[in-house]
Amino acid sequence: MNYEITETQQMIAAAIQDFAEQHIKPFMMEWDETQFFPVDLFKKLGELGLMGVLVPEEYGGSGLNYHDYIRIIEEISKIDSSIGLSVAAHNSLCTNHILEFANEAQKQKYLPKLASGEWIGAWGLTEHNTGSDAGNMSTTAKKDGDYYILNGAKNFITHAKSGHISVVLARTGAKGDKKGITAFVVEKGTPGFTSGKKENKLGMRASETAELVFDNCRIHKDQILGEMGDGFVQALKILDGGRISIGSLALGIAKGSLEASLKYAKEREQFGKPIASFQGIAFKLADMATEIEAAELLLHKAASLKNQGKRMTKIGAMAKMYASEMGVRVATEAIQIHGGYGYTKDFPVEKFYRDAKLNTIGEGTTEIQKLVIAREILRD
Ligand SMILES: Cc1cc2nc3c(=O)[nH]c(=O)nc-3n(C[C@H](O)[C@H](O)[C@H](O)COP(=O)(O)OP(=O)(O)OC[C@H]3O[C@@H](n4cnc5c(N)ncnc54)[C@H](O)[C@@H]3O)c2cc1C
Repeated sequence: MNYEITETQQMIAAAIQDFAEQHIKPFMMEWDETQFFPVDLFKKLGELGLMGVLVPEEYGGSGLNYHDYIRIIEEISKIDSSIGLSVAAHNSLCTNHILEFANEAQKQKYLPKLASGEWIGAWGLTEHNTGSDAGNMSTTAKKDGDYYILNGAKNFITHAKSGHISVVLARTGAKGDKKGITAFVVEKGTPGFTSGKKENKLGMRASETAELVFDNCRIHKDQILGEMGDGFVQALKILDGGRISIGSLALGIAKGSLEASLKYAKEREQFGKPIASFQGIAFKLADMATEIEAAELLLHKAASLKNQGKRMTKIGAMAKMYASEMGVRVATEAIQIHGGYGYTKDFPVEKFYRDAKLNTIGEGTTEIQKLVIAREILRD
């Protein structure tokens, strides 16, 4: 596994930092406060090649690999992880589902728009009563000639309001039937397809999270992704890759928290000395740095398997679980190092702390990752 930082990755990181100085940093606390989702920013991110990171160049994407992808999500999340979450969900959920399972005509139609940032993508699996137990979903797609009629609602969907298209998983068979779920791509403006309640969240507040609502929404059979009945297996494969995304968000938050803490610990003086000179603080910094390295290694191991097209369910779940829990621990210690100032909005660690928690929940909670890992190691 070779995951040394490449020249391309260094150039992309520098471009993201420059971009953030002008287009993200001056506004991010206001976006956070008001829960504003900056739609236009994503067009600009598209111009930088960040909206189709894994999409091949022939479809207008950047044609990069998962090691590059980790660096990109991490770099954005070091600055504003709610923008990182939206870039991650767009790339690894909606866009990747189309890239991996759409037919050629669907790829030609949707990928260039998604990769350029002209369109923002959403991906709807979760429902109000089925989160971890997503396979038990209630949204139905009933056949009516060449059409399917969608009824139901999806909950907690990133870009449910602003997304131009959504990949939607719906029941086309009986509950309990493993081949009873199918993936559809649904365009905004399709009659019967609307969005509902926007969530008021603890963190990741500039990333839009809302409901997708289907009320007798007629979808042509050409909008099916892959084969009928393959939707749930497709979703699980997409979530395998998505775990690298969420882990990278956590890695970025942790690196941002450590960077801020190192700076603060060297500047802040108590008892006539910088607080970094107290072993109690220095040991915290040492633990944070070590945990970050460990998470990074796990994530790049998962990326390496993914790049080679190898099965990475176990390592992906381990990387996601470890990185996300690590992100919470590191962000918590960062507040502690900043003392009372860390509890205010004058320092970046307050936002990192709130944003970090999402990663232990989204795209499979820590408990669900443990179920996946246990299943994999008991089968070995
Ligand atoms: C900001 C945000 C963005 C999101 N974006 C999307 C998106 O774009 N698309 C999408 O489809 N979904 C999205 N989600 C949904 C997310 O994936 C779910 O919230 C997550 O899968 C957990 O489901 P739940 O919230 O219903 O919790 P539940 O499944 O109800 O879990 C509640 C608790 O019970 C535990 N639990 C459940 N089952 C078990 C078990 N068998 N063993 C042990 N413990 C268990 C869980 O770990 C958790 O601690 C998003 C969520 C958030 C908060």
